[in-house]
Amino acid sequence: MSSNNTTTSSTADLRPSANEETERIADASHAIISNALTSPTPESIHDKIPAPISVVISDPSSYASKLASLIDGGIDDLQVIFDFDRTLTAFRTSAGELCASSHQLLETSVHPYNPHFQSEMDVINTHYFALEISGEINEEQRATYMNEWWQKAHELLLKQGIHRSWLRAAVDSLRKAGMLELRKGAHDMLHRLNELNVPCLIFSAGIDEPIRMTLEDEGLLLPNIHLIANEMKFNADGKLIGFSEDTITSSNKNYTHVRNGTGGASFTAQAGKRKNVILLGDNIGDGGMVTGLEHVDTVIRIGYLHDNVEARLEKFKQTFDVLLLNDADLTLLDDIVTKVANQRETANGVSSSGGLNQIQNGMTVTSTSTSISSSVNPSHDPSSSSQQLSS
Ligand SMILES: [Mg+2]
Repeated sequence: MSSNNTTTSSTADLRPSANEETERIADASHAIISNALTSPTPESIHDKIPAPISVVISDPSSYASKLASLIDGGIDDLQVIFDFDRTLTAFRTSAGELCASSHQLLETSVHPYNPHFQSEMDVINTHYFALEISGEINEEQRATYMNEWWQKAHELLLKQGIHRSWLRAAVDSLRKAGMLELRKGAHDMLHRLNELNVPCLIFSAGIDEPIRMTLEDEGLLLPNIHLIANEMKFNADGKLIGFSEDTITSSNKNYTHVRNGTGGASFTAQAGKRKNVILLGDNIGDGGMVTGLEHVDTVIRIGYLHDNVEARLEKFKQTFDVLLLNDADLTLLDDIVTKVANQRETANGVSSSGGLNQIQNGMTVTSTSTSISSSVNPSHDPSSSSQQLSS
């Protein structure tokens, strides 16, 4: 819910402009990438990387080993788990605004009916956001505080008499205002994963109904897409009467919620014993989304690091195998999936064009070896590739 705090109206005047913030993040990111490129063993294993250059591999050797395992397993052993807010959605919209989170969608739905609501919510959000990012409390304390945050926010929302129709209006309004956009490439990527029969879980500490509406608007309620989030409970008249008791927060995201949640059964049935996972998130807590998942062999964690890059870099590197900066698109995931899918084609005697042994940019990765030789190609332009995604 932290990202919600930064989007509230009362804080809008305090934050840097979109341009200032983008420049600051870009400067920090370029310094990090420069260091990565000049390290003693600069390694990268992807033909296509997001532009501008914005990928940091935390431990190249470990990552290479994990990628080889995924390729060995093939597409039928793969499942993908996404966070939603600012992972499947953008961090900043094309207009440079912070993208609305699912909690913000719900909060916005109240605005026409209670002009004082947002200032009350901002008091809660500001207090707990400081605790969410505090370096002075341990994780157990943070989990307690985060649970308090979600409970207090949901209690305040419940007092507003929210009707389901309000949500529809809020989603429409924010989409029309350009405040709600999927991450570039997300639409095509989810369709591609559906065509490959790869089960995908959207696992959010946000709110299920606005997320479902967004997916529906984008034509993404696909057979392979399953959603776990905090559930809204409505009465027969469409009025909000509660939230699911099993509250998902930024500090307790683990697979227990998938077993308990409404969307969990369909996902676990489809995922079966697929042993390899690609996980994508934008918060440290997202790294735990597979904790408790059985039959797991290999997990590649991809982390979108949007802001406060310098302060959060080390923790992100400890949590995620790959960091994507600069609000990068989904090209990296697409590249991994291509490699994994081509393994099946190669095994079946189908053309391996673009596959493991024909990787461009001087890279060589085979399904039986983790030997890698390459570096990030700063001049690569994904737009020239047929794999280029667009949302
Ligand atoms: Mg998120």
